[in-house]
Amino acid sequence: MGERAAILSVVRDFADAEIRPHVMEWDEAQHFPSEVFRKLGDLGFLGVLFPEEYGGAGLTYGDYAAIVEEIAAVDGSIALSLAAHNSLGSNHIFQFGSESQRRRYIPKLAAGEWLAAWGLTEAEAGSDASGTKTTAVRDGDEWVLNGSKNFITNASVAKVAVLMAVTDRGAGKHGISAFIVDLENPGIRVGKKENKLGMRASDTCTLVMEDCRVPSDALLGKEGSGFIDSMKILDGGRISIAALSVGIARGAYEASLRYAKERRQFGRPIAEFEAIQFYLADMATEIDAARMLTMRAASVKDAGEEVTRYSAQAKLYASEVAVRATERAVQIHGGYGFIKDYPVEKFYRDVKLCTIGEGTSEIQRLVIARSLLG
Ligand SMILES: Cc1cc2nc3c(=O)[nH]c(=O)nc-3n(C[C@H](O)[C@H](O)[C@H](O)COP(=O)(O)OP(=O)(O)OC[C@H]3O[C@@H](n4cnc5c(N)ncnc54)[C@H](O)[C@@H]3O)c2cc1C
Repeated sequence: MGERAAILSVVRDFADAEIRPHVMEWDEAQHFPSEVFRKLGDLGFLGVLFPEEYGGAGLTYGDYAAIVEEIAAVDGSIALSLAAHNSLGSNHIFQFGSESQRRRYIPKLAAGEWLAAWGLTEAEAGSDASGTKTTAVRDGDEWVLNGSKNFITNASVAKVAVLMAVTDRGAGKHGISAFIVDLENPGIRVGKKENKLGMRASDTCTLVMEDCRVPSDALLGKEGSGFIDSMKILDGGRISIAALSVGIARGAYEASLRYAKERRQFGRPIAEFEAIQFYLADMATEIDAARMLTMRAASVKDAGEEVTRYSAQAKLYASEVAVRATERAVQIHGGYGFIKDYPVEKFYRDVKLCTIGEGTSEIQRLVIARSLLG
């Protein structure tokens, strides 16, 4: 067995034993299972991309995408929180942090002792993230942050968040900087917990900063480079949303394949009807194509080459395939697809986040077109 196959067999066993039995219970209660994340940390899945000398697993983006897919095939919520921790919050610290910031945060984040969140989005700054209103003003040896961040994954369960704030209003997007904020800081609090359509076991809340004082060494990367660095982080993050999409689509497809062989109407399994066969054939084909685009983006990223276009293409295509596949999955299940006793109902709800989070489909098309047109 190759190294990736061995890793995936561990992920699969873990997801079957520790996640699958609780999926609906966590979804209904909107419960974030902290204990599962501690175990994911013990297994090395919370520091997938970081070198072993920082406590990471030292794996590639290809491995990471395969891990996210495997977990998402069981529960998209867990995969989403794992992705926000690995490739957004922690990775921003690893990619752009000083050596002392890396040493201070990455080992604990990789071990799952701490979780990370990442906050770019605000009420008025969604697709247009350069519209950030949160400010950070220097005061002696400290920065004082004021503002709020919306829809932040892991906000109420994380120990640290990487947050973008304006440090020079006149400099536009070159006036936005990134900060590492300890979420036990009395100047920051968790605001509204969102009541969501899907991904309900993933924690999504507002973070509110009121005169939140952080030390000068909380600045992450160069002053004024927070927006540009965030775009680079999203280039990698989108590979995980593509993988998340492939995983959800695959989970829905596998459930549909099983169901189509079992469910009988007109005296035969519904899998014998050509209409159902064509649905399954299209799902399998599109999911394979989406995985290939995802793995191409991962290979480009692993080679250290410019990945913006490839990760946007993978994210766009995989998320739209996944929305289509889960809709077909509900259709194949008929009335039972509409009922919470069958897994496809939840896949259908969860998947919609994939065409929205880390940049909507419309924004991916803009990114791709910009890259094509130069
Ligand atoms: C569950 C969940 C988790 C999230 N986690 C995080 C997180 O951890 N950190 C974080 O920072 N953010 C997070 N987000 C925020 C997410 O990235 C944004 O919701 C997303 O980028 C879209 O922004 P918006 O919601 O403000 O939509 P808007 O930008 O208001 O978009 C509304 C519509 O207008 C379209 N649109 C906007 N501009 C254009 C344009 N120029 N051309 C064509 N169409 C356009 C959009 O595509 C969309 O269809 C999360 C969101 C959700 C729902």
